[in-house]
Amino acid sequence: MNKRENALAAINKIKPTKTTIPYKEENSINKFGENVFSMSVMKQRLPKDIYKSLKNTVENYSALDASVADVVANAMKDWAMNKGASHYAHVFFPLTGATAEKHDSFLVPDLSGNAIAEFSGTTLIQGEPDASSFPNGGLRQTFEARGYTAWDVTSPAYIMESPNGATLCIPTAFLSWKGEALDKKTPILRSMQALNTQAQRILNLFGDNSGKIVAATCGAEQEYFLIDKSFVLYRPDIQATGRTLFGAPSAKGQQFDDHYFGAITDRVLAFMFEVERELYRLGIPVKTRHNEVAPGQFEVAPVFETANLATDHQQLTMVTLKKIARHHGMECLLHEKPFAGINGSGKHCNYSFGNATQGNLLDPGETPHENAQFLVFCAAIIRGVHKYAKVLRAVIASAGNDHRLGANEAPPAIISIFLGEQLTEVFEHIKNGEATCSKEACLMKIGVDALPDLPKDAGDRNRTSPFAFTGNRFEFRAVGSDQSVSGPIVAMNTIFADSIDYVATKLENAINGDLSKLHDAVQDVVKKIIDNHGSIIFNGDNYTNAWQKEAAKRGLPNLKTTPEALPMLIEDDVIELFSKYKVLSKEEMHSRYETYLEQYNLKIEVEAKTVAEMANTIIYPAAVRYQTELAESCLKMKELGMDFEDTALKETAGLIKELKTRIKTLETLIVHESNEALDEAITCCEQTLPAMLKIREIADKIERIVADDLWPLPTYQEMLFIK
Ligand code: ADP
Ligand code: MG
Repeated sequence: MNKRENALAAINKIKPTKTTIPYKEENSINKFGENVFSMSVMKQRLPKDIYKSLKNTVENYSALDASVADVVANAMKDWAMNKGASHYAHVFFPLTGATAEKHDSFLVPDLSGNAIAEFSGTTLIQGEPDASSFPNGGLRQTFEARGYTAWDVTSPAYIMESPNGATLCIPTAFLSWKGEALDKKTPILRSMQALNTQAQRILNLFGDNSGKIVAATCGAEQEYFLIDKSFVLYRPDIQATGRTLFGAPSAKGQQFDDHYFGAITDRVLAFMFEVERELYRLGIPVKTRHNEVAPGQFEVAPVFETANLATDHQQLTMVTLKKIARHHGMECLLHEKPFAGINGSGKHCNYSFGNATQGNLLDPGETPHENAQFLVFCAAIIRGVHKYAKVLRAVIASAGNDHRLGANEAPPAIISIFLGEQLTEVFEHIKNGEATCSKEACLMKIGVDALPDLPKDAGDRNRTSPFAFTGNRFEFRAVGSDQSVSGPIVAMNTIFADSIDYVATKLENAINGDLSKLHDAVQDVVKKIIDNHGSIIFNGDNYTNAWQKEAAKRGLPNLKTTPEALPMLIEDDVIELFSKYKVLSKEEMHSRYETYLEQYNLKIEVEAKTVAEMANTIIYPAAVRYQTELAESCLKMKELGMDFEDTALKETAGLIKELKTRIKTLETLIVHESNEALDEAITCCEQTLPAMLKIREIADKIERIVADDLWPLPTYQEMLFIK
């Protein structure tokens, strides 16, 4: 048996899926939050004043009172030990996009040979992982390699269970000793503050002086693939890079549209139920599940939460999907493009902001007053996306996502906004001055007349837009499935804080304390924004060539690849933007730029090496074996004085020769070294990736002709359809 046949035999032995969780006795819904040190647990376990102080920190971003830390730590430890935890871990989110954790035991031995469990306030608030091997893009020299983790009080601690023990996990920010952000959480927290500060000014103008925090909200839809683990064992490309670097398309792909929203099979459903139960226990409100377009592709989506918490929960969701898939003998692929020729995976980042008094601030609302306020926020978003489209593009740049953007299955690399017909019409009216009028009438115009039926239902959708208004939120649809949503959220918060600042300043200056002038002022500023930034609005089909041309005419950036997009992070105006709102300093922006470039280069280097190795050691030998079979048969036929049709033999020999030549070309590129990360990235993009594809082209042809029993790699058909 060859490896591929081994895989198939193993899968053939899998027994029908059995029930593994007692869902009838313990309904999963009732398990929600049971492993979370939530506000309600704290209320039960903490003295009243301590609880109040902590609650204040969580709700108002006020500084954590250090004196409460010891009490909280002790309560947290008791709670965690009750649930079987022997260890605690500061969980942090380095720039690789991964989730990192350092575990310590509660155990403290005493001199008499006994041990007690201890967890102090200081260890709760602050950890000190030796962080020298996390990428920091030059922020930290190795001689001052200390980084520290600081508890993020707004994201609750939770218990992670594994078969033989449990760990108390504490979500933390990860900083250098000088306080520079080394992670993806710190800038979220900073950008949430920036957004809140500016949004309060608009709310004040519209009479909401409650001071209730305006928080960004996020609901991230996660797409993923599931394939049987046995196949992965024999696919070095999936193991090393998360995607297939070879593979001829199967005859049946996604052309029948029979997978999308189809009935979910038992094996996959058993996996989903277990994932959801785990996520419920961790307090993650996942709600929606369905089959996606490509065979073997699925989606899970939560109910939205505050952006910071949603980001932590999104990371946990990815970790949980991968972990639970293995319980079911499957591998969960989060890569943006695991299979060529069928859809890749995205992570639609639904985004809005709101406060406790008014709820969602991007909901058009029922009254003229609410509508006017909505239009102000909406206009600010239009301005922000237009001004900093390049930033939104840069934060979703990665080697994986490059395969998706612009491949007619995901929005193109051109960032534009879909507003829907009705809302566009409203802005057109304002732009054409059709609503300029007397004060009272103007209020009516902006509020009611000019806003006929604002689109609220999901029917009014444009699935080709990278940034779509969906009735009461924006959906940033170009984010990659494997990416942290942190980058997009930080970018949106900061860009919108800047635009809201701009609008608030205009309005404040225009009315100069006289609120009766507000609606005229709103009219003016919204008109100005649409005049200057309306070109970012595009309601048509983003997949067409016509749009590429039109976008160029409008001067919208079209940054097709990661090496083109990442340098946007260090353009002067971008650095100024992030510094101004104290989200990321110049050094921190540079560190991100450097780190993401390095990640890109490393990813492609690993892919290139894997391609060369698989081509040399798996595909070439299979082809040669087949060639030998044909040649032997040819010889024997000739010995017998019979004819042999040798086209297949010649074709195989030709492909083998070409394969070797192309491998050589790639190998010279792999040894290419450059001191400049950007040069390296450009080489990867313009030479290495095409050279890899050239090899694949031949290899896939070989796969189509080699005798099936000699072909060692699991095929697309098998991986996508056998489960
Ligand atoms: P669709 O597939 O139609 O886009 P889904 O139900 O799969 O819709 O996902 C919609 C996502 O948008 C959910 O995660 C939902 O919680 C989220 N969402 C809804 N309202 C908001 C909001 N105000 N802010 C952020 N996300 C939101
Ligand atoms: Mg969806």
